[in-house]
Amino acid sequence: MSWETAADVLVVGSGVAGLTAALRAHERGLRVLLVSKGTATDGNTGWAQGGVAVVSPEVAGGDSVSRHVRDTLDAGAGLCSKEAVRTILGDGADAVARLRETGARFDGDDDVLLRTREGGHSAFRVIHAGGDATGAEVQRALGAAAAGSIAVLERHCVVELLHGDSGAVAGALVLDALSDLNAEIKGKSVVCVTSGGNFDFERLPEVKERAMRFSGRKKYFILRMPQRPGALREFLDLLGPDDDIARFEYLKKSARNFGTVLIGIEAKKADGFPALFQRMTDQGFEHRDITSDPVLSEFLI
Ligand SMILES: Cc1cc2nc3c(=O)[nH]c(=O)nc-3n(C[C@H](O)[C@H](O)[C@H](O)COP(=O)(O)OP(=O)(O)OC[C@H]3O[C@@H](n4cnc5c(N)ncnc54)[C@H](O)[C@@H]3O)c2cc1C
Repeated sequence: MSWETAADVLVVGSGVAGLTAALRAHERGLRVLLVSKGTATDGNTGWAQGGVAVVSPEVAGGDSVSRHVRDTLDAGAGLCSKEAVRTILGDGADAVARLRETGARFDGDDDVLLRTREGGHSAFRVIHAGGDATGAEVQRALGAAAAGSIAVLERHCVVELLHGDSGAVAGALVLDALSDLNAEIKGKSVVCVTSGGNFDFERLPEVKERAMRFSGRKKYFILRMPQRPGALREFLDLLGPDDDIARFEYLKKSARNFGTVLIGIEAKKADGFPALFQRMTDQGFEHRDITSDPVLSEFLI
């Protein structure tokens, strides 16, 4: 196809991330080819509703980027990269200013945008467009800005990234889903921003596990369990009514008087654990909390 060598930058994905990357590259005088596996407006961006959380310089009332960072890390429950959060939120006002320059119209007037508060935000900082049609407006504005200046291939699915002699990504193998043709795109740089449309639901259990541990509602400990009749019943009686055993595993198969057991407990609230551990100590159940032990938790949990 004629576009094979016509691009300096290949951008995969036509949502807010892809269009922004494509427009920025185009501003720098680069030839850009943008590929999307659906139509240019498929993807998550058009569906985003609530709005964009951003602290802007014109907002009075005590809000600040550091407060936004704090709220985000709290709500992220240990899953966020602090550095990424600081960088992204610190750049938020500039990013929104660029979106507005590109033509996105948010609710409010030119000087003061309307702001709502939702989720884990402790301040009114969520700007929106058309009420709850924020993503549609962002997609519209960026798409309009790209129209005419950026080549877009719709319904072309990237199935493999291609590497040049140096090992760096140098292109992508694309399947044209409509015509069953495939072609090599040899752009000099490749920007892949397809994450929004590819959320992996299989990661949900891992996300839940990490969130439970971070909030202190899940603990793992090693227990020295006496090997005598009734010992297990005694241990179970120490648990609270809302405590669930999520893991119970003998670590040594050849135990005699005592067996070493790895136990995971999930609780509705974190504050019950100190009392549970105290009851275990009082009843002679030797144990060690390994939830936050970097070495033992990595090997045993
Ligand atoms: C119902 C809903 C409500 C939301 N509300 C909010 C909100 O209020 N505030 C907020 O900040 N966020 C919200 N989000 C999240 C937000 O929409 C996404 O985080 C954001 O749109 C992601 O942008 P993106 O450009 O990374 O991905 P997308 O917009 O999903 O774009 C991904 C692009 O990659 C393309 N693609 C994927 N794989 C391939 C491939 N192999 N080959 C070629 N192209 C490919 C897709 O076709 C698409 O163009 C919401 C999401 C949903 C679904």
